Amino acid sequence: MKIALIAHDEKKKEMITFTVSYKHILAQHELFATGTTGTRITEATGLDVYRFNSGPLGGDQQIGAKISENEMDLVIFFKDPLTAQPHEPDISALMRLCDVYQIPLVTNLAGAEVMIRALEAGFFQWRDVIENH
Ligand code: PGA
Repeated sequence: MKIALIAHDEKKKEMITFTVSYKHILAQHELFATGTTGTRITEATGLDVYRFNSGPLGGDQQIGAKISENEMDLVIFFKDPLTAQPHEPDISALMRLCDVYQIPLVTNLAGAEVMIRALEAGFFQWRDVIENH
C-alpha cells in the first residue's frame, strides 16, 4: 500500500510516537510524507519515506495529485484543529480529493490507531484490486 503521512507542527510529536510504535507494520508499505514530517519520521524510525514539498509549499497538493492519479492508497493526516494554517485551501483540497476518489483518510491519532490495525489485518486489500484494473 502507498501511505501518505502528514502532521501539522503541533502534531509532529504524535506522528513520531505513532510511527515508532507501528514501525513494524509501516515498514511493509511504501511511505510518502510532506517534507518536514518525512524528515522527522525517517530520523526517528529509520523508515524509508519519500518526501514531497513541505505542506505550506505545496506538499498537500502533490499528495492530492497522487490521489487523483490513483497512486495513493491511504492518508494519515494529523491535523491541528487549534491553529490557523496558511495553506488551509490546500488542506481542504486534499481532503476533498480523498472523498472524490474514496481514499481512506484519518485526521487524528484515534482514527490512525484503527486504520493501522485494519491495515495489518488486510482490510485495505480492495485497493490492490482497484489498482490492478
Ligand atoms: P510539513 O508539512 O510536514 O512539511 O511540516 C505539513 C503541514 O504543515 O502541512
